[in-house]
Amino acid sequence: PTTSKHAILKGLNDAQRRAVTSDSDTVAILAGPGSGKTHTLTARVVWLIDHKGIRPEDVIVATFTVKAAREMKDRISKVLGNNRETKLILGTFHSIARRYLAAYGRHIGLSQSFGIADSDDSNKIIGRICKRLQLAVDPSGARAWISKQKAKGTEATSKASRKEAGKVDGLQELETCYREYQKQLKASNLLDYDDLLVSCVELLQKFPACVSNVQAVLIDEYQDTNGIQYDLMKLFAQQRKRITTVGDPDQSIYGWRSAEIRNLWKLLREFPKTDEVSLEQNYRSSQAILDLSLEVIKQDQKRYKKVLKPTHNRGSRPVLRRLKSPSTEADWVVSEIRRALVMSGAMLTHDDVAILLRSAALSRHLESSLGKAGIPYRMIGGFKFYDREEIKVLINYLRVIHQPENNDALARIMNVPKRGIGEVTVKRLLEEAETSSLSLWSVLSKHCRGDRTAETKITKHAEQQISGNLLRPLREIQAKVQEGPGFGLVDTIQHLLTKLNFEEHLKRDHRDPEDAAQRWANVQEFLALAAEFARDLELSDEDALPEIDGLVQTKDAEVLPRFLANVSLASDAQTKGDGEESKPVVTISTIHAAKGLEWPVVFVPAVYDGSIPHVRSEDGDEERRLLYVAMTRAQSLLYLSFPVFGGKGDGERNKLSPFIDPVSRYFLNKGPCFDRPVMSEIAKVLRRQLPPDEDIYKGLPNTMTMEDNMFPVDPEATNAEIGPRAGLQGGDASRAKRQRLHGPPGN
Ligand code: ATP
Ligand code: MG
Repeated sequence: PTTSKHAILKGLNDAQRRAVTSDSDTVAILAGPGSGKTHTLTARVVWLIDHKGIRPEDVIVATFTVKAAREMKDRISKVLGNNRETKLILGTFHSIARRYLAAYGRHIGLSQSFGIADSDDSNKIIGRICKRLQLAVDPSGARAWISKQKAKGTEATSKASRKEAGKVDGLQELETCYREYQKQLKASNLLDYDDLLVSCVELLQKFPACVSNVQAVLIDEYQDTNGIQYDLMKLFAQQRKRITTVGDPDQSIYGWRSAEIRNLWKLLREFPKTDEVSLEQNYRSSQAILDLSLEVIKQDQKRYKKVLKPTHNRGSRPVLRRLKSPSTEADWVVSEIRRALVMSGAMLTHDDVAILLRSAALSRHLESSLGKAGIPYRMIGGFKFYDREEIKVLINYLRVIHQPENNDALARIMNVPKRGIGEVTVKRLLEEAETSSLSLWSVLSKHCRGDRTAETKITKHAEQQISGNLLRPLREIQAKVQEGPGFGLVDTIQHLLTKLNFEEHLKRDHRDPEDAAQRWANVQEFLALAAEFARDLELSDEDALPEIDGLVQTKDAEVLPRFLANVSLASDAQTKGDGEESKPVVTISTIHAAKGLEWPVVFVPAVYDGSIPHVRSEDGDEERRLLYVAMTRAQSLLYLSFPVFGGKGDGERNKLSPFIDPVSRYFLNKGPCFDRPVMSEIAKVLRRQLPPDEDIYKGLPNTMTMEDNMFPVDPEATNAEIGPRAGLQGGDASRAKRQRLHGPPGN
């Protein structure tokens, strides 16, 4: 081993050590937020490699988000050294599946150049099918249903779905839609997100040799795996059933994407010798934050109960504020961010702050307030840089360059820049392609050759445009790309920009010069991202799977398809920033994408009934867990808030979320949110200048009850008194300070 036992186990508590070093083949860690599950999983990866002699390339580690994968890789690399972490098969289930399919997909008849259909593509394709076949189903409902079938691992025509016949409205139509959808995907040589998993299951069932090297499989955020991911996990581990899972049923928030909490118990049933470990210390949140979060999750009577104790007390009481409107709320958030940073004596930076939202749509006011205040921010989850119109166009061009048979992508760029082809014509051409056995590309080529057998008529002008300004330049670029290594990803994009006269096109399409300039700046950022991707790829061989005797691997080396796959799969990773990685920025994220992450200072705006729980949500318990996930991201300062008016669009007053209402009196709901001494202590410990166990709250016994710790500042304070300006008015600072330093009166 290159690392000493000591180095790997240093700083871990007993339970964590036991999990890391367990000799059991299956280990299941079930524990609450901030208890070091991910930390422990990471240490176990290193342990297996360094003390069990397993090669990194024989270890599969699945994380839930791209960001989490990156962070884990960074952590492992620090301990392991020698760049050995690059050999690990580490990523989200989807990205791991993609790698196997790229390497071995041809064994199950997959064309090597398959592309990935993102949600947008899937929606469009299904929408068209419903219209064309006049199916009496709602397209988004159909999409969800199809996805659910795939997540279960059942085919459209299987027994299981027939059993559903009585329960599902219009099952026959849904099945027709499903079949047609698969046909269209196949014709365009695309796999959707679910297909990546479904096809990978097929591959590993038929060709187990692909994973014959795998010695260990480790899964983070296990509570959010669905049926097909469970199958995949078992297939990965079919050679050697060494499986480690870590999860927390209280944080299961992807039921709407068919995640099954039941997988937790299924594992224990199927692997009865599993070593179960629970971790009971929370190293993340202050006692006040943890207590309140637990108070919220405890409202769920049916939940599986676990112990979770705080290890530090540094932080203020969580704050709850009621503001007038979404824009005053956003302004308040911004003013509190500034105050926190100033009061910390510049020890906290923008990086230490996150704003977590129930839905991406809520970001508008926050973006505008942050912008006005000149506070830099980045957005993760749900807000897709790649979804911007001008970027999407470029991506679709790249997709067509890579796969001319991608009808959908081609349809979307046919008239961008404008070529005098109307929407109706595009639709007709697309339909012609979809009902004939030709691709849209071939249909267009036919037109341009002057072949009059094509059904859809287009004008002479449009024909010339398509021929001269679309197909020809694309063919030229395709030829250059195929020619080889001299012509890279950045060259491809640059060529495209020139051929399309893209900057001019933006100026023409967007009269407001500032708007056009912003879009052009986005294009430049896209170029920078592509350059970075190409450079990273050159430096690593991470996508090559280990060699296996007797199995031919297709080399997954072309940069363009890999960039496109990365674009499709990275939609939950960082999306919009200033380009400068090192500059500290405030994070705006959906709660879903914030899973597993932590920040010293966390804001959760819009905690009103209808936002959380969301009006359209069907599972109230899942909404509560979502709030619990949001609150437990905070280390020291937690701010909840909601606007009295606005947001729902019905003009009615908003009511505080029913999850918070019963505990609202425990929040600090008037007066200053914290004072300077507390702030600088918080900042110090976060900068690791103080060990976590050294307590500044000398007067407080370690086993306080919730009531002791969270007594209301003013027991009479009701919701009605939570005023918008209370936080900014100074208030009784000395009393707050006294309480924080010496505990509540009577202690
Ligand atoms: P979540 O459920 O939110 O994913 P988690 O259980 O995965 O949380 P981690 O993210 O692994 O928790 O750990 C939370 C924080 O606690 C991290 O900052 C981690 O470095 C720290 N931590 C974990 N274990 C210890 C320990 N034994 N001593 C000190 N700090 C620890
Ligand atoms: Mg975690």
